[in-house]
Amino acid sequence: MGIIELLGSCVDMLIPDECPICGVRMTAHSSPVCPACRGSLLSESALAPVSSGHIPAIWSCLPYSGVLRECIKQFKYHGRKRMTRVFFDLAGEYLAEKPVPVDIIDSLIPVPICSARLRERRFNQSELIAGILCRLVSKPVCVHNLTKSENTPPQNGLSRNRRIDNLKGSFFTRDPAAMRDKTILLVDDVMTTGATLETCAEELLRAGAKKVLGFTLARTL
Ligand SMILES: [Zn+2]
Repeated sequence: MGIIELLGSCVDMLIPDECPICGVRMTAHSSPVCPACRGSLLSESALAPVSSGHIPAIWSCLPYSGVLRECIKQFKYHGRKRMTRVFFDLAGEYLAEKPVPVDIIDSLIPVPICSARLRERRFNQSELIAGILCRLVSKPVCVHNLTKSENTPPQNGLSRNRRIDNLKGSFFTRDPAAMRDKTILLVDDVMTTGATLETCAEELLRAGAKKVLGFTLARTL
């Protein structure tokens, strides 16, 4: 367990009565955030799906800002897995308003992270989000086929095309035959330029997938 995650878990156990987003004291501990933060998250307008590159539709619940951005940071960088409870509520509400075409989807594939990052973080945030979707849309999660082979340089500040160049060749499918003629819903936490989703989609289509769609909790606007 990384020190950050360990500290995050300790904080969760020791002071569960303080909202990690706004710091207000909480009387009920059933939600990982206070009622006001939860309410503001669930009252925002849902984003419409967008197309990007080879992906005809990418659904993202909300802009990457405000309470959701803080929740994702606490989840991803401070090991607060309890945030999945609020993500479950958010995604459930979103899908009720902007349904994904569940009937045509064969499986959910989380965007993989490289093994060094996985060792450091101890979990792949996209895999946990795919687990939430699995419960909401009753489709299987496929985690061991699409793989990230190496640690690519940081993507911050690069243009979409530079990001795609950066990522080229870093995702591969272990079993391409299992992807043949499948419609895949790729799952990630945040869509920034769409370069990561696009690179994964290109690899899945190269392996023989029929169609690749996308879902993220947040999108940078
Ligand atoms: Zn709060």
